Amino acid sequence: SSLLQDKVAMISGAASARGIGLATAHLFASQGAKVIILDLDEKAAAEAAAAIGPEHRGYGCNVTDKDACAKAAERAVEEFGRIDILVNNAGITQPVKTLEIDPASWDRILDVNLRGVLYLSQAVIPQMQKQQSGSIACMSSVSAQRGGGILGGPHYSAAKAGVLGLAKAMAREFGPDNIRVNCVTPGLIQTDISAGKLSDEQKGDIAASIPLNRLGNANEVAGAYLFLASDLSSYITGAVIDVNGGMLI
Ligand code: NAD
Repeated sequence: SSLLQDKVAMISGAASARGIGLATAHLFASQGAKVIILDLDEKAAAEAAAAIGPEHRGYGCNVTDKDACAKAAERAVEEFGRIDILVNNAGITQPVKTLEIDPASWDRILDVNLRGVLYLSQAVIPQMQKQQSGSIACMSSVSAQRGGGILGGPHYSAAKAGVLGLAKAMAREFGPDNIRVNCVTPGLIQTDISAGKLSDEQKGDIAASIPLNRLGNANEVAGAYLFLASDLSSYITGAVIDVNGGMLI
């Protein structure tokens, strides 16, 4: 049988064509889930969901807007009656150095990558408490662990490290409600975030430094999300799964 049969899964930042979120939506749907795609643009989100199948939905939701997150959760409960899985996947990056970070870019990077995880979790957790079950998977990054990455700036590292702390705190707080909260920490994954920003030579150099000798793809992160979303991980909470080809060995 399927790993997510009849589960309702909400995934943020999931309308982008080559993104990790959309790959996750497709994988979850293939395992029997009803998927709700959230992204900045309602039309893009709705079209991405419809392309998976008529039982799926897409809503416009800027995760930095607390009211929009609350509305998305309300709408999901109206349409599907429950929310079993939340994937806090939305994120943005900016490749700058510490001395170049101005107040506006600090706010922007922290808002989307970290504040958004709080707001969407706050919106969904009361429903999961009613159900006395739920799984929340959050997107961090190898940038949090290495103190810097290839594409993200120090503010991105800080935000993604913040996600690890927030997720562990929520795992501790909501464990008694049978709500699990975990993180994934991908290395370099080929999506729009990295497309065009690295030359083939740079990609080759990076690949050579990774034990698996290549960059990752969106489906390989979606697989880790699927494990965390499903009952296969029913005794795992507050954990961090590296999806990085061995970059940290
Ligand atoms: P992507 O740009 O394809 O996907 C990000 C999605 O988030 C887009 O669809 C975008 O529209 C959406 N988004 C941006 N701001 C938003 C907001 N305020 N509200 C709602 N949605 C918003 O890139 P991706 O690589 O698939 O990124 C997905 C996540 O993975 C991000 O959190 C990113 O930081 C993280 N990540 C990516 C890599 C990588 O190498 N690609 C590595 C580690 C972590």
